[in-house]
Amino acid sequence: MWQTFLHSLVNWDLLPLIVLSLLGGVAGFFTGLWWRHGLSKSPKLREKRRDEAFFKGIQYILSDDKDHAIEEFTKSVQIDSDTVETYVALGNLYRSKGDIERAIRIRQSIILRPNIDEEVRVRALFDLGVDYKKAGLINRALDTFLEVLTKSPSDTRTLLEIERIYEELKEWEKAYETRKRIARYTKGDHSHILAHHLVELGKASQALGDYSRAKALYKKAISTNKECVDAYLHLGDLYAERGEYKKAVSMWKKIASVDPRFTYLAYGRLESVYVNMKNIRPVEEFLKELASKNGDAFTYLALSRFLFAEGDIEGALREVGKALEVEPGLWEAKRFQGEILIQSGRDTEALAAYKELISQLDLPSLRFQCSNCGLEGEELYWQCPKCRSWDSTAPVPVRQKAGRSTV
Ligand SMILES: [Zn+2]
Repeated sequence: MWQTFLHSLVNWDLLPLIVLSLLGGVAGFFTGLWWRHGLSKSPKLREKRRDEAFFKGIQYILSDDKDHAIEEFTKSVQIDSDTVETYVALGNLYRSKGDIERAIRIRQSIILRPNIDEEVRVRALFDLGVDYKKAGLINRALDTFLEVLTKSPSDTRTLLEIERIYEELKEWEKAYETRKRIARYTKGDHSHILAHHLVELGKASQALGDYSRAKALYKKAISTNKECVDAYLHLGDLYAERGEYKKAVSMWKKIASVDPRFTYLAYGRLESVYVNMKNIRPVEEFLKELASKNGDAFTYLALSRFLFAEGDIEGALREVGKALEVEPGLWEAKRFQGEILIQSGRDTEALAAYKELISQLDLPSLRFQCSNCGLEGEELYWQCPKCRSWDSTAPVPVRQKAGRSTV
């Protein structure tokens, strides 16, 4: 219990919990000490001084005074260097103060001790991995976590650390394998993460020109998670790159039924292919079907662009008008409306549309927010750059101008 308690000292958010644990824990701890050593005579004073320092250290932690806590714990281990728990607490305190070098030295000293409990040694090894990671020594951190895993193969905390490092290093195959192991020991649905790992692996293969492997990986991602928007997008991109436009369109079309919030990601892609297509009917049908079903500004705008490219000026103006009715601040729609008007010789109307556009130029763009940690920004990420959770970022309804996406 004390090991767990001391281990949590680094987490200052748990202060109320620590206080509660302290009430029971301190009593138990000192009762134990009294039971074991209470009757011995000569080391009694030494133990008393050690415990006093330890207790003071705890009190300083509770009042968030890390410097004095470190001072007292150091005193405690100087009196008695056998108390591993105090070293663990010291290591955590140094880490939380940013003194990683000293934290690392303390972990190493724990690991090298003969006759210590294997559980304590493995935990110190894990802590060492966390310290290395914090110091930016990613490869050393990885090696250390892998060593923890050889001693404790089903430790999901370690597996999660390893997965995160593989993700950072873009070692997607290893990240995928690690997630599969995590899935073995943790309940819940892991398919969306596994699918993302496969898509990332597919993207890497595609970048290297290995289209057949990339295609197989995207397809595997879809069969792993039928709702993986990223997989449909990139399989569509791959088909488009290979000139298989019809297949590309049918892939992008799937996004509308999988998750309509992301359909807008398909529009720019559609535009880039239909100029090369012999038969554009599938695109037209797709856009019209969506416009009647979704009725969102991005769909109307995409349909307007399509009709304009086909020479249907009136149709284009009608659809862009609908887009602006739904989202009056959608600057892309406004700008496009101006473009249609100018190109069709309606200069006065164009001027009016542009004037309105200029007055709205400082409007915020489409924003995205992570439902897990709340991170907000103008870019869409499948994996949140802050909390690293997958599929937690989605557009937040801002009735203003359209944002761009890096996806
Ligand atoms: Zn997040």
